[in-house]
Amino acid sequence: MSNSPATPPPGRPPRSRRLLTVSAVAVPVLLLAGGIGYGVAGRGGGDGGGTGGDDAKAAAPARTSAAPRPSPSPRGPLSGKVVVLDPGHNLNNRLHTADINRQVDVGNGRKECDTTGTETNAGYPEAKFTLDVVRRARKLLRAQGAEVRLTYDGDREFGPCVDERAEIGNEAKADAAVSVHADGAPAGARGFHVIMPAAVHAGKADTRAITAPSHELGTRLAASFAKATGTSPATYINGGTGLDTRSDLGGLNLSRVPKVFLECGNMRDAQDAGLLTSAKWRERAARGIATGVAAYLGGDAGEKS
Ligand SMILES: [Zn+2]
Repeated sequence: MSNSPATPPPGRPPRSRRLLTVSAVAVPVLLLAGGIGYGVAGRGGGDGGGTGGDDAKAAAPARTSAAPRPSPSPRGPLSGKVVVLDPGHNLNNRLHTADINRQVDVGNGRKECDTTGTETNAGYPEAKFTLDVVRRARKLLRAQGAEVRLTYDGDREFGPCVDERAEIGNEAKADAAVSVHADGAPAGARGFHVIMPAAVHAGKADTRAITAPSHELGTRLAASFAKATGTSPATYINGGTGLDTRSDLGGLNLSRVPKVFLECGNMRDAQDAGLLTSAKWRERAARGIATGVAAYLGGDAGEKS
């Protein structure tokens, strides 16, 4: 921002007085200009990476000059595809205990509307991690032409509940849906894993049509995530395959579109926490997600760069 608002007010004859007047006017003008500039940079970052608090400030100066238009290209290998990304939990869930503890129908049982999620030993919350990674992945997938919808974008007081998270994917008729999490396993347990829906046919749950495509999505995602992040499948899940199948997650049970959960690492392990709290690593994680989804959908997002 340049210092050019110094057009003197008209008709002020003595030069010394004019200078005083100008500087008195210039201060609020500059403050205002600074405020607007920051707002624009912040919004541009909000569309993709760089919104995750700690790294947002570092990314802002480069973005201000480089990327004046936030809207992604509508054409690309994933044009016409709809991807729903679901950032696990919500930073404000802890303030709404009664709301998130409400039981919801997940077909084969009842579960809490939502949970607070875990955090690193130093207090970096899972909900902050998931939203940041999902925003970064959205940017990468949009750049490949996909229509990307989030189940929430930091704009909800709590939740959404797990049944609504599934319903958002169903209503969008998503070609693929990915719920992003990080685990809270004991220290020493490391690595990522993908959770795929078991065949559940009970009450309002019927995953029978999505188990096969979800398995395909999950295996693509696991392979891409390992490659992009350089991390290994979880040591503590299903013999280290990185692939798990569950029938107790409402977000999977109620899905009618191909969907998986991705547990990116273990927040309670110091080494994994070092990765999860790194903005650079989160960008790699996002690339792994985008590449895996694109591979499943038949595009090539992320592979080229
Ligand atoms: Zn979680």
